[in-house]
Amino acid sequence: IKKSSIRSVNPYTNEIVREFTEMSAEVIEEKIITAENTFKVWKKTPLNERAKLLHKIAAIMREKRESLAKLATLEMGKLYREALGEVELCAKIFDYYADNGEELLADKPLDPKIGEGYVSYEPLGIHLSVQPWNFPFYQLTRSAAPSVMAGNTVLLKHASNVPQCGLAMEEIFLEAGAPEGLYTNLFVPGRNIESIVADDRIKLVSLTGSEAAGASIAAAAGKYIKRSTLELGGSDPLIVLDDANLDDAVNAAVYGRMHNAGQVCISPKRVIVLREIAEEFEKRAKSIFSSLKVGDPMDAQTQVPPLSSEKAAEEILSQVEKAVAEGATLVSGGKRIDRPGAFIEPTFLKDIKPGNSAYTEEIFGPVFMLYVVKDEAEAIEVANATPFGLGGSIFSNDIIRAKKLAKSIDSGMVFINKVTESLPELPFGGTKKSGYGKELSPAGIYEVVNSKLVYIS
Ligand code: NAP
Repeated sequence: IKKSSIRSVNPYTNEIVREFTEMSAEVIEEKIITAENTFKVWKKTPLNERAKLLHKIAAIMREKRESLAKLATLEMGKLYREALGEVELCAKIFDYYADNGEELLADKPLDPKIGEGYVSYEPLGIHLSVQPWNFPFYQLTRSAAPSVMAGNTVLLKHASNVPQCGLAMEEIFLEAGAPEGLYTNLFVPGRNIESIVADDRIKLVSLTGSEAAGASIAAAAGKYIKRSTLELGGSDPLIVLDDANLDDAVNAAVYGRMHNAGQVCISPKRVIVLREIAEEFEKRAKSIFSSLKVGDPMDAQTQVPPLSSEKAAEEILSQVEKAVAEGATLVSGGKRIDRPGAFIEPTFLKDIKPGNSAYTEEIFGPVFMLYVVKDEAEAIEVANATPFGLGGSIFSNDIIRAKKLAKSIDSGMVFINKVTESLPELPFGGTKKSGYGKELSPAGIYEVVNSKLVYIS
């Protein structure tokens, strides 16, 4: 029998916990039929009832926060305390769309020169959403909450290594009273998605994940003319100017980079520091680095958990080895940790020059990269020397100076005196190879509706 690729493996021990059967074409067809039938009813369900369901989902997530967080830690190794924070953020996103959906989706009057008109926001149909493992509940929520509020139904294909989280989300919807087919978990490997995209009943697709998966989903969406949103990789810069509060900047850069073991699309992957303060910055960053505690992700004292999988650990180390072979200086780390599980040492690299693969590639793990630059112009040059354009940060006590610099960064988001972060009310999304379209905030709900013009002569 062919082994299923859909399974939970605990990266803290590398033991297989549970395996799931991939859904057959017949099962998927039944799920699409149910989602389509439910759409016909759900799109007519009053907005206040949709909002009630979303609030109920938020309440259930808060009630089950501990068991949900444990599941995330079990399947992808993240720190339990960070997983608890993730579940709370999901509840806030559901509440945000429940509280604001009615206003956001109300008809918007227009002001034409002759006649009258308005925009009516109408649901599209079945939304196929493909999501990654790094925030196993947040990614599902970010995609599904606005879509369901807008009147769509969702087919959610989660990453193959977090199936229990995928299933748990479907159960939460049902427990909250959602009709069957409103939110459906799909057990399908990524390579089999194109045939689902092709289905006429699927009206929009969204993907959060790697560039390769994004290109393949976008190609299929283009071929079958579907609305699409892509949230892809990032190699965000964090620029520290000479007038920054150094402690704030060092803490944000190091702890920001270590958050979720560095497996964050908006992690400050390249820290760019002006020459005048570089020596002091490096000294303080190294000192935090050497004190980081590796261990059990369930332990409240642990700061460095395992990576999401053995494969991820090997891949990150090979990127580090390549960067060093190409001339980067390894300040610390760079090896496996001698214990079971997908652990690697927190790693610190510097002297990364143009032409080095680390200069442009995304490193999706606990690898801190320091760039020293002579002035603001060089800081911008390094910041933009990446195919990606997701987020970015600037640390400076001069807000006018920082805002001016923010304009020069080619990215979808810039945070001043803060690491890039995701909040329900702020638009999230990138430019360049980081994808297109926005999620969260009002912008996120307008991505998943037909903004229909109604004109009266
Ligand atoms: P990945 O391999 O692209 O996986 C993400 C999802 O896409 C999974 O559900 C995966 O399914 C599916 N998939 C893989 N190949 C596919 C294909 N050819 N067609 C359709 N779906 C496919 O991503 P990853 O490497 O695990 O995740 C990390 C990446 O996600 C990083 O690049 C990170 O920066 C990015 N990310 C971006 C954001 C953002 O908001 N911009 C947020 C988080 C992560 P299987 O598991 O079945 O292969």
